[in-house]
Amino acid sequence: MYYKCRHFNIKELVDKKTFARFGEDAWMFFNPMALRMLDALRDYFATTVTVNDWPFGGKNQYRGFRPPGCKIGAEFSQHKRGAAFDISVKGFTAETVREEILTHKDTYFPQITCLEGEIPWVHFDCRNIPDRIRIVYP
Ligand SMILES: [Zn+2]
Repeated sequence: MYYKCRHFNIKELVDKKTFARFGEDAWMFFNPMALRMLDALRDYFATTVTVNDWPFGGKNQYRGFRPPGCKIGAEFSQHKRGAAFDISVKGFTAETVREEILTHKDTYFPQITCLEGEIPWVHFDCRNIPDRIRIVYP
């Protein structure tokens, strides 16, 4: 079930400290379904999809995995389980991306189970729930 993204390197998915400590081994912190869905989104939109931009000189480092003790977001966030990503898709609004995911959920995004609504970025995760797809409002 091991999976490494085709379109993303590990630095884009973890924070600086986690990368400094674990390097390539940090792939182990992710749910493989979430990694597959991240690649699926990149394939579907066929444009730049950004998670963390710290490897490119930006400030974001907690939009993928959040390490234990991270104060960003909710205590039981799926980000702390490596099962969630916050993404920006170049050329598409967050609302458009969410609509596309919902429209094509069974065809292209079978393992996405949750989206956050009404936020200016796209949060998706693969939490273990029966819903197809649950929308939460943080
Ligand atoms: Zn999120």
